Amino acid sequence: MGSVSVGRPNRGRLVRGVALEESEHVAVKSSSRGQHFGTAELVTLLSRVAGRVAERSPGGRLHVGDLSRESGGRFGPHRSHRSGRDADVGLYLLDAAGEPILTERFYDIRRDGTARQDPTVRLDDARTWELVEALVSDTETPVQFIFLASHIEARLLAEGRRRGVSEELLSRVDAVIDAERQHTNHMHVRIYCPVDDVPRCDEEPPYHAWVDRTAAREATAMAHAEDARRRTIAARAARRRRARTTRTRVSEATPPPTAVATVGATSGRSAPGSSTAGAP
Ligand SMILES: [Zn+2]
Repeated sequence: MGSVSVGRPNRGRLVRGVALEESEHVAVKSSSRGQHFGTAELVTLLSRVAGRVAERSPGGRLHVGDLSRESGGRFGPHRSHRSGRDADVGLYLLDAAGEPILTERFYDIRRDGTARQDPTVRLDDARTWELVEALVSDTETPVQFIFLASHIEARLLAEGRRRGVSEELLSRVDAVIDAERQHTNHMHVRIYCPVDDVPRCDEEPPYHAWVDRTAAREATAMAHAEDARRRTIAARAARRRRARTTRTRVSEATPPPTAVATVGATSGRSAPGSSTAGAP
C-alpha cells in the first residue's frame, strides 16, 4: 500500500508518509529532519528534479526543508504542509568563488542576487532556473504551485530568456510561480493530488493548461456530488426528526379533555377566593 494524501494541504493529513532520502543530489536541512515526509509522488519528484539539475550542471545539491510530519496534520508555523503535497525547497546558492554551497539556514536573496545574511553568497540563477524548469516540465507528477518572491521569479525568467528557451516554457514558469513577497529564501512547491489518492485527496483549481486532470476532476466532482446528496438526506432526516419532536411536545402540552374540564372547574371555584394562590 502506498502513501495517501488526505484532504487539503491546509486541512488534511498523510497516510503512510514516505521520508525523503538524502543522496548525492539531495540534502535535507538539519532542522527539517523528522518533518521531511511526503507522498511517494512528492519525494520521488524532488529526487528526480535534483537529478535533472545535477545532470545538466554537476556539483550542486538540492537543499530541502520542511515537507510534512510522518502522518501529516497541523504543522506550525506553516498553514499548509499537512497532507504531504507541500515542500519547502532551498534555492541553489554559490559562494564567492562561484562554487555551489549549502548553508545551514536558507538565506534571503535580494534583488541583486546576493544573500542578505552573507553578501559573498549569491543565488545560483543557472541551477535554480534548471530546477524550476524541471519542476514545471515533469509529466509524472505535475506541479500546481511554486510560491516564490516576485523579484526572484524575475531573475529566473531573465535567466530563461538569456538561454533562449521557448515562450511556452517561460509562460508555464510564470503560471506556476505564484509571485508574492514572503518566499525570499526558498520556494514552496505544491503538487496536484496523486491521481489514485483522489477523491480522499481534495483537489482545487487552478488547473494549468498543460496538465490533464480530467480523471482527478471527475472523481472529485463525483465525490462532491455524493457528499451533497448525503448532506441533503441527512438534512431531510433531521427535519423529520424535528417535526416528530414538535408534534410530540404539542400533544404533551395539550391536556386531555377530562383534565381541561377539571382544571376549568377548579379554577372556577378558587377564583373568588384568590387568596389561595398566595397561600403557602
Ligand atoms: Zn512552505
